[in-house]
Amino acid sequence: MAQSDTAGQQLLSRLEGRKCEFCSDGTLVRGIFKGNAAVICEECDTPAAQSW
Ligand SMILES: [Zn+2]
Repeated sequence: MAQSDTAGQQLLSRLEGRKCEFCSDGTLVRGIFKGNAAVICEECDTPAAQSW
Protein backbone atom coordinates (compact mmCIF):
# COMPACT_ATOMS: atom_id res chain seq x y z
CA MET A 1 0.00 0.00 0.00
CA ALA A 2 2.73 2.44 0.95
CA GLN A 3 4.51 1.62 -2.27
CA SER A 4 1.53 2.39 -4.49
CA ASP A 5 0.93 5.57 -2.47
CA THR A 6 4.45 6.68 -3.27
CA ALA A 7 3.98 5.90 -6.96
CA GLY A 8 0.78 7.93 -6.93
CA GLN A 9 2.53 10.87 -5.30
CA GLN A 10 5.31 10.72 -7.88
CA LEU A 11 2.75 10.71 -10.68
CA LEU A 12 1.04 13.75 -9.17
CA SER A 13 4.41 15.48 -8.81
CA ARG A 14 5.17 14.90 -12.47
CA LEU A 15 1.83 16.26 -13.62
CA GLU A 16 1.74 19.24 -11.29
CA GLY A 17 2.48 22.49 -13.10
CA ARG A 18 1.81 21.12 -16.57
CA LYS A 19 -0.51 22.83 -18.99
CA CYS A 20 -4.03 21.54 -19.10
CA GLU A 21 -4.90 19.42 -22.14
CA PHE A 22 -8.55 20.45 -22.06
CA CYS A 23 -8.45 24.21 -22.08
CA SER A 24 -6.11 26.82 -23.51
CA ASP A 25 -4.48 28.38 -20.48
CA GLY A 26 -5.15 26.24 -17.43
CA THR A 27 -2.36 24.90 -15.25
CA LEU A 28 -2.55 21.66 -13.34
CA VAL A 29 -2.47 21.94 -9.57
CA ARG A 30 -2.80 19.41 -6.80
CA GLY A 31 -6.22 18.90 -5.37
CA ILE A 32 -8.82 16.37 -4.42
CA PHE A 33 -11.18 14.78 -6.93
CA LYS A 34 -13.98 12.57 -5.63
CA GLY A 35 -12.14 12.17 -2.35
CA ASN A 36 -8.84 11.10 -3.91
CA ALA A 37 -5.60 12.95 -4.42
CA ALA A 38 -5.51 14.26 -7.95
CA VAL A 39 -4.03 16.89 -10.21
CA ILE A 40 -6.73 19.23 -11.40
CA CYS A 41 -6.81 22.10 -13.85
CA GLU A 42 -7.22 25.36 -11.99
CA GLU A 43 -9.24 26.80 -14.86
CA CYS A 44 -11.67 24.04 -15.86
CA ASP A 45 -11.40 21.66 -12.88
CA THR A 46 -10.70 18.70 -15.12
CA PRO A 47 -8.69 16.04 -13.30
CA ALA A 48 -5.56 15.04 -15.20
CA ALA A 49 -4.70 12.09 -13.00
CA GLN A 50 -6.07 10.34 -10.01
CA SER A 51 -4.31 8.34 -7.38
CA TRP A 52 -6.25 5.29 -6.30
ZN1 LIG B 1 -8.26 23.15 -18.07
